Amino acid sequence: MSIRWELFLYLALFIVFVLAVVWLFQVKLLDKFYESIKRRELTRAADTIEEHIGDSSLHTIAYQNAVEYGVCVMVLRIEGMNAVELVTVDVSGNSVLSNITEKYVTELYNKAKEQGGEYIEKRTKGELADAGFYYSPFFFLPQRDRYADSDANIESTILIRLVKSPGGEKYAIMLNVEMTPMSAVVSMMLLQYLWIAIALIVGALFLALIISKNISRPIERMNSAAKSLATGNYDVNFSGAGFRETRELADTLNYAARELSKNDRLQKKLIANVSHDLRTPLAMIIGYGELIRDIPGENTPDNIQAIIDEADRLSQLVSDLLDLSRLQAGAGQPRITRFNLTETVRDTMQRYEKLARAGGYRINFWSDREVYVTADRNMILQVLYNLINNAINYTGEDRLVRVVQSVGDHVVRISVTDTGEGIPREHLPYIWDRYYKVDKIHRRAAVGTGIGLSIVKNVLELHGARYGVDSAPGQGSTFWFELPLPLPDEQDNSDPSEN
Ligand code: ADP
Repeated sequence: MSIRWELFLYLALFIVFVLAVVWLFQVKLLDKFYESIKRRELTRAADTIEEHIGDSSLHTIAYQNAVEYGVCVMVLRIEGMNAVELVTVDVSGNSVLSNITEKYVTELYNKAKEQGGEYIEKRTKGELADAGFYYSPFFFLPQRDRYADSDANIESTILIRLVKSPGGEKYAIMLNVEMTPMSAVVSMMLLQYLWIAIALIVGALFLALIISKNISRPIERMNSAAKSLATGNYDVNFSGAGFRETRELADTLNYAARELSKNDRLQKKLIANVSHDLRTPLAMIIGYGELIRDIPGENTPDNIQAIIDEADRLSQLVSDLLDLSRLQAGAGQPRITRFNLTETVRDTMQRYEKLARAGGYRINFWSDREVYVTADRNMILQVLYNLINNAINYTGEDRLVRVVQSVGDHVVRISVTDTGEGIPREHLPYIWDRYYKVDKIHRRAAVGTGIGLSIVKNVLELHGARYGVDSAPGQGSTFWFELPLPLPDEQDNSDPSEN
């Protein structure tokens, strides 16, 4: 269901609920409320008259009360078996009391006595006339015409209270009020309700339309932007104006779009880099191959070695790419062992010896003790290779690379320092990203995919190791990482033969 209809449904349900409550009180319970108010008025009038019973002011008080509460008042003094009528005030002119029969007075008197001094009765005037309690004007009409008079249906409430004056005389206070039939009012109200209900439902429909439009407009806008994003348009802008939730969603989508576009750019760059880097060694291999095939005497070990070297570079490139994708897919869980880190670094340096000699590099390693660590040895080797390769590639004219092992508080730090151009500050945060390369022509070795450092980062993060780079333009760079050292006693007990 769309937001619009759902909203409308809820609003409509709410309106029905409100109308039902109002109807219950205004229509259903109207009679009850009216009657209870009228009864309260009768009792109140009776209280005031009772206070003045036996007074000379009784007449005036009875009159005032009759007018104030719209009731009819009659006060009788009871003398033995007789009742003497003291006061009768009939404001309506057609009250039951002013036409009451003795029979009814006796009955009311007896009932009040039974009930402990007060009795209230509600009957229609027609019933009272039929019972012979009331001299109705229509009582004298033929039976069939009697109830044609709507008067017959009017409900009359009579209260009788028996009291004694301070002088000990007995009195009966009788009060009577007529209940105006509510049916006319009720049917008028029902009609009103019908119109109010229609107006409210129409209002709810409009309200639902407006609210849902406000809510769904940004969602629809974002939807079409997302569709356009799906087709590769990364310049879309999501805006969720209006509500906090849609604004947050828009921010997230904008972030996703930015990341997608960054990734896309980097992927394209990688493909460009990789194909460029593949082309050079492939061209060399083809060139040397053709040379050997076509020109007699060119089948020299040097030329064949050139082909092998180029093929080596190709295989290095491919294995770098594979390593990275494996690491990023989370496939490469580290195989943690205990090994001699110092020895591992020293071994690695030896591998570079030939290169160093041929290219005139000086690669120094400095350490003051043998250190054991627990880590994945192959992965740490890869980190070392990548850092040292970079240092060789980027070091300055003196061709110097320094590797230092320093032991601190429960950690060992390996740092690889070169004397090259350094890395501009603005590039520092990004060099660890995959495919990122600082644009620069000054490179010694051609192989470079921008993934070496991202492998380093992935491996070290997998080990929970700290790592970083200190570099400033013209001052060379120092790449470093730290591995935790076992506690001293473990270190002492270590058995080098384990490795
Ligand atoms: P690459 O294969 O291009 O060297 P890396 O991920 O190893 O890729 O390095 C990313 C970028 O960081 C390099 O392109 C280079 O610009 C910069 N960089 C890495 N190491 C050094 C260094 N020792 N000196 C200067 N710049 C470096």
